[in-house]
Amino acid sequence: MNLYNIVEESQRRMAKYQKTMTVNLTSDTATRPTPKMLQAMFAAEVGDDVFRQDPTVNKLEATAAERFGMEAALYCPSGTMTNQLAIKCHTQALDEVICEEKSHIYQYEGGVYSMLSSVSMNLIKGERGKLLPGQISAAVKPRYDWLPISSLLVIENTCNKGGGSIYTNEEARTLVQEARSSGLAVHLDGARLFNALVETKESPADWGKTFDTISICLSKGLGAPVGSLLLGPENLIDRARRYRKVLGGGMRQAGYLAAAGLYALEHHTDRLAEDNARARRLGEALAPLPFVASVETVESNICIFHLAGALMAADFLDDLAEHGIQAVPFGPQMVRFTTHLDVTDEMVDHVIRTLQKMA
Ligand SMILES: *Cc1c(COP(=O)(O)O)cnc(C)c1O
Repeated sequence: MNLYNIVEESQRRMAKYQKTMTVNLTSDTATRPTPKMLQAMFAAEVGDDVFRQDPTVNKLEATAAERFGMEAALYCPSGTMTNQLAIKCHTQALDEVICEEKSHIYQYEGGVYSMLSSVSMNLIKGERGKLLPGQISAAVKPRYDWLPISSLLVIENTCNKGGGSIYTNEEARTLVQEARSSGLAVHLDGARLFNALVETKESPADWGKTFDTISICLSKGLGAPVGSLLLGPENLIDRARRYRKVLGGGMRQAGYLAAAGLYALEHHTDRLAEDNARARRLGEALAPLPFVASVETVESNICIFHLAGALMAADFLDDLAEHGIQAVPFGPQMVRFTTHLDVTDEMVDHVIRTLQKMA
């Protein structure tokens, strides 16, 4: 064996290794609990949460409420449930909810607001999923018998379909003031709020002061396997707890899951800056590639890009899958990459090398 054979052999092995490396950029919901998180789950003290006797769920709710400076919190199976419970508690039948047209509550929650709360949506086209000052007061309907009653504003931070765009607290406060002066309640879909906070250096309490209710996901970038929290005033959270139960969301020894959420709140918020930085690196690498028409500004852990020419997202994603890389289409020629706890720098290197080879 001469030196060339050795180099060739090593390259063959490297190629095989790279092929077996799997990188899941589908969503930040793809994370698996870390060994330490699992330890915390196994060690959890539990009880029956329907009787409010699960100490770990109680601790998670109290910890989150305190961190946001809000009165109470409710642990739920999903962010769809926390958002929809908020809509239910803030509205009456035949009211309408004002939100940006890319909002998760409208796009990805099965339209259940119509069934559960009997409300409609008043959709506004903003920029990258963000509403602009003036748009809310222009959308609020006057009180006539033949019009729905505008009663709730929902904004999303970061905005998923807006490419992970971020509202600063100041921007949000301007919108909230506008909504309140029209008599609306205000809910924040903060599924990925912590991804925004590491960029803006704001605190959860800044946001707790701004909104009536906030929903946060523990199961996204924070890396817990399950769960979301609804935060708000005690009387509203009490009503939400009742609706959670009748919808089948009363979980018994949920402390095993809540322990993962507590662990995530304690250990996984600051590290989200790494996820955001990795998404930025992906965006920078994608921009000059010939098969990429454009990359939307990367503000957090989401990178949305558009394919050039006739290249379809489905075909592009098939090619990527061959190299062990998974992602999702966001339109016929649109792709979303999402970074998270289980995506390392080495994996990002592998994705970038693969993309450059495809060019
Ligand atoms: C994921 C997500 C939710 C909640 O989704 P679930 O899958 O029901 O937990 C809500 N809003 C946004 C913006 C999300 O990305």
